[in-house]
Amino acid sequence: MTGDDYADRDVVVVVIDALRTDGVGHLDGVSGVTPTIDALAASGVTFPSAYSCINTTDPSLTTMETGLFPRTTGLVHHGQQVTEREAAGLSGVPVLAECLRSAGYDTAAVDWLGRWHQRGFDAYTGRDGIHDYGAHDDDRDGADAESLAGRVADAVNDHRDVLPDTLFRLLRASYRRVVGSPGDKDAVEDAETTTDRAIDLLDRMDRPRYLFVHYWDVHAPYDTPQEFACDALVPELSVDEAQVRADLDRIENDDRRRYVEEILEDGLSAALRQYYGAVSYVDAELARLLEHVPDDAYVLVVADHGESLFEHGIFFEHHGLYEVNTHVPFVVDGPDVSGDTPSGFAQLCDLMPTVLGRVGVDHPPVDGIDLCERLEAGLPLRDVAFAEEAQTQRRQMIRTSNYRYIRALDDSPCSYCGVRHGDETELYDLAADPNERANVAREHPDETARHHDRLQTVLEETTPVERVRISQTLDRVARSPRL
Ligand SMILES: [Zn+2]
Repeated sequence: MTGDDYADRDVVVVVIDALRTDGVGHLDGVSGVTPTIDALAASGVTFPSAYSCINTTDPSLTTMETGLFPRTTGLVHHGQQVTEREAAGLSGVPVLAECLRSAGYDTAAVDWLGRWHQRGFDAYTGRDGIHDYGAHDDDRDGADAESLAGRVADAVNDHRDVLPDTLFRLLRASYRRVVGSPGDKDAVEDAETTTDRAIDLLDRMDRPRYLFVHYWDVHAPYDTPQEFACDALVPELSVDEAQVRADLDRIENDDRRRYVEEILEDGLSAALRQYYGAVSYVDAELARLLEHVPDDAYVLVVADHGESLFEHGIFFEHHGLYEVNTHVPFVVDGPDVSGDTPSGFAQLCDLMPTVLGRVGVDHPPVDGIDLCERLEAGLPLRDVAFAEEAQTQRRQMIRTSNYRYIRALDDSPCSYCGVRHGDETELYDLAADPNERANVAREHPDETARHHDRLQTVLEETTPVERVRISQTLDRVARSPRL
C-alpha cells in the first residue's frame, strides 16, 4: 500500500525539546525511561541516525515546518537574535501546517513560540490560553514584545556591575516573564498542562486533524516532578569530575556561570537525575496523550536538538555541534509504517516531506527527503548529515559514518560562555572516541581534507543562489549576553 491509501488519517507531530538520544531507551538510553517512544518505534520505524540541522529551537522547528535547511531559508538564529531579514526570508515559503490545511486538515498546535511558527494553524495555544490565529498569520506582536524586552535586557546587562543582586534578579525574572526565554519554566507550560491542552484541542477538532505538540520539560533548568527524578533513569555517562570543575571555572560570562551553578547546586548527579527524570515524565505524558489519538493516526516523535549536559565545557545548553547536541530521536508510527532499521542518516528537514508523503499530499521542492518512501523502496537514506550553528558561535559540521568534522567560521568566543569551545578545525574518530574527546584533525590530515571537501559539496547542494546566504544574515546579528 502507499501513503495515498491512508490520506485523511490524523497526523500528530510531537517535539520533545532538547532530548538527547541517550535519554531514549531504544536508542542509546536506559531501558524503561521512554516506554512510550520505544513502543512507537517498535510498532512503526525509528531512524537511529537522525540529526538536527541546527542546534537552537526557532530555526530547528523551521526546518521541520518548511523541509528546508536553515541556510536555504536564511533563518539561523533563535529568539531575539532572529533578524527581520531572516523572518522575511520565510515569506511565501509553504509550511507543513499550511499544506495540510489546504488538503482539508483541521490544524492546531500546543506551543508558545508563536510568530511564524503559528502559520497554517487554525488554533495555536500561547502562554495565556488558546487563540484562533487563523486570520492573523502575520501577527508580529510577539516579536515586538521580544524586541522591546531585548533592548531593556541590554540596558540591564550594561549596568550589571552596579546593580544590587536582588534588583538584578528581580529584573531578570521580569524579563523572562515578558519574553519567555527558553530555559525559564515560568513562561513554559509543564508536560501535564501541555497534554491537557492537546487533548482538549483533539476533542474540539474535526477530522482529519493535524496536531503539533511541543514539550519543554527536558529543556533546562529541568523542573522535574520529584517522583520522576531517580538514579535508575540515568545512563552510564563518562564523567571526569575534575574536567567538569575546570570547564565550569573557565566560563568567562558571570551570568552564565551563575546560571550553571544554580542548576549544579546539588551536584552534577542531581542535575542528571533531573534531566533524565524529565524525559521519563514527558514520556508518561505522551502516553496519556496517545490514549486520545486513534490507532490509525500517523504519530511522529522527534527532538529539535540534543543537549550538552557537561560535555565539551557546555553546560545544560545545546550549542556546539557534537553528537550530544545534534543526534536526535526520529520515530514514525502509522498504519503503513514499518520496516527494518534503515541505513544512512535522516535529518529534521525530512519531517515535512515524510508526513506529506504518508497522507498523499504534494509538497513543494524541499531539501528534505521522504524517509518512509525511501524505506519502502529499499533505498538508503543520506550518506552524510549536516548541521550548523549561529546563535552563540559560528560553526558548521558534517557527520559521516565514522567521523565528525566541525569547522569554525570565525574566531569569536561563544557569546554565552565567553570562551572558545573546541579548535578552529575538529575531527573526531567516532569508533575510537565516541565521547569526542580527542581532536585528531592534525593526526589525520587526509581525512580532515576529505571531510572539508565533503562539507563544501553539501553547502553547494543545499544553497540555492536566490536564497539568503548565511554570511549575509550573520553579519547583521548583534550579539548581546542573555540575562
Ligand atoms: Zn558556550
